[in-house]
Amino acid sequence: MQPLPAPWLGQPQPPQPQSAPGPGLGALAATLALAAVIVLYAAADREPQPAEPERRRRSAREPVVVGRADPSTAREIERLIDKYMEMLRISGPRPIVRLRDNLGRRWLGRAWRKIGAPGTTAAATTTIELQRAIIGHQRTLERVVAHEMIHHRDFLSMDDLDKARLRLGIRQEGHGEQFLQGAAMVNAQMGPGFVTIKSDQEDVLATNTRLFFVLIQPAMRDRLGWTWAARLSPTASQWAARKIAQGARLVSTTDERWAAGPRIGHGRVAIPEDAENVERLKALYDTGTPVALPTASLPAAQAAM
Ligand SMILES: [Zn+2]
Repeated sequence: MQPLPAPWLGQPQPPQPQSAPGPGLGALAATLALAAVIVLYAAADREPQPAEPERRRRSAREPVVVGRADPSTAREIERLIDKYMEMLRISGPRPIVRLRDNLGRRWLGRAWRKIGAPGTTAAATTTIELQRAIIGHQRTLERVVAHEMIHHRDFLSMDDLDKARLRLGIRQEGHGEQFLQGAAMVNAQMGPGFVTIKSDQEDVLATNTRLFFVLIQPAMRDRLGWTWAARLSPTASQWAARKIAQGARLVSTTDERWAAGPRIGHGRVAIPEDAENVERLKALYDTGTPVALPTASLPAAQAAM
């Protein structure tokens, strides 16, 4: 767990999983995974604050899911939130839920609550983020929601002393005694092991089915290296076209091991460390489904032909 920044230093956003390091950087990835378990952060508010004592409270029946979600998904999440509000006997506001869609993620769900600078009030409720990849996997979805709802309960029960400590960078153990007591309440009804300390992590997930791009290029010491992108911007396409002219290949895949490390067009390249991935990347280079770049991204002389 990393200590929280002091509120006056500010912290723009919770860490973005898109910038997760390549599979070669195992230790760093593990640290990130741990840090993503709960992201509670204190933020220096540079904007003028609403008058004390409270920011606008969310009304009890306001939709839980904010942002883009189809109605049946929103209804299902709402149902689960209500179920765990009751099961965990939470009497405060319901959380906000946002759906996220991150390739190369290490987490399936996470929860955080913004604690303002001293003298301001905390955000009215918790934000829970869920990966879209778990929608449709009923048991996984429910396990993740149940896990995050325990964090929600624990955030709501923070007293002024807890908040003051948090602003000083002293954070409570996110999966300590209080969390385990919540997990026991859930597991008594849902079965042993339904909620665990890691039940919101990647290891309970089905495999990715979405195609993304991998640019594989000769790198140092006869090794191949890769960069990846979910979408190709015009700049990334032009970059890929230049690399292809130098021997790189652009392929599409659903294999998430390549959806980590630097993005196409950012200058750096990831190189697999272990022999198995060296072979896998070579196979992808030799036999992967090639992707044709749009004509506009080819060098001018070729595009004119
Ligand atoms: Zn957690």
